[in-house]
Amino acid sequence: MIFTCPICKNECSCTREDEPRFKAQKLECDICYSAIVKKRYRPINKHGGVTIFSPINSALGDAVVERVVRERYKRDNPDERIVDIALCDADEAVRVYKPDKFFWASTTQFMNRPKTFKVVNYSVPVEATWLAKEGFYPAWPHGKEDFVDVGTGRFAVLNFRNIVKCTWKNAEPFLVNVVLIELNKYVESGIIDKAVLVGNDVRDSAVYWPEWIDDRYRQLSTEQIAGLCARSKIFIGKDCGIAHLAAAAGARNMIVWGYTEKQWIVKTHPGRFTALMKQNSTVSSLRAAIKDRMEKIDDLFKMDAIQQTVALGVAQQRAGNY
Ligand SMILES: [Zn+2]
Repeated sequence: MIFTCPICKNECSCTREDEPRFKAQKLECDICYSAIVKKRYRPINKHGGVTIFSPINSALGDAVVERVVRERYKRDNPDERIVDIALCDADEAVRVYKPDKFFWASTTQFMNRPKTFKVVNYSVPVEATWLAKEGFYPAWPHGKEDFVDVGTGRFAVLNFRNIVKCTWKNAEPFLVNVVLIELNKYVESGIIDKAVLVGNDVRDSAVYWPEWIDDRYRQLSTEQIAGLCARSKIFIGKDCGIAHLAAAAGARNMIVWGYTEKQWIVKTHPGRFTALMKQNSTVSSLRAAIKDRMEKIDDLFKMDAIQQTVALGVAQQRAGNY
């Protein structure tokens, strides 16, 4: 069957087998179809019904993005008992929990769907994209106990993906060098004091690392990394789960390059984020993005300075009053 998706207007095709599914989706393609945000699921008519969510991939990005979808579902369906299953036999989960609904995430790729229950499929990044259109973004909690002292408040956070088992996704050393050469200018001019390297992969030996790099690879918890990203003046990295974490933690000034799929671009407040698709991840575009974002740092500093002045003024007023 050939059809036009009413959302993206793209011409799509599907097999005869998939026809009933697409008709049920009102001919929306899989890139546009949203089950949870658009509430296209069978409502539970009885109080306290049970809904199961399939486990998701353990990858950090998947976890950050999926969390916002699941929280949104819980908010919309407060009377339901929601069961987050771990890796198990899905049919056994159906037998034990007797669900009314069973949501199956696009990032559940390591276990088989139940044969005894019809799941509702949902695409994690597509749902999150719909939520972002509403201004509903992932958030990742972190607190004072996660504070990591790096000796200055003026720092960049860098994450250059370098994972042995999946080399094609890794940060290209020549682009890492471009980032370091550009940042060096801002270290020399005193705009930032250092850059903190985060991640749980390995530091690339093909890269020349300047002395203002504060290497915290494999030393920090997820929450500690979140706290650092939230306080950073700029976050720069290759497409990786840490970027999702950084945005969800509240990073205000970010550049991420190397995206292969638009739907996985980090969801955050407009203006905070520069995304470079893989085909546009060139030396010149990365340089331009860094220049543009570093100019924004001045605004961030001004904002911080104004906030400090206001806070100081209030403190002085109080001191005068009492
Ligand atoms: Zn579409």
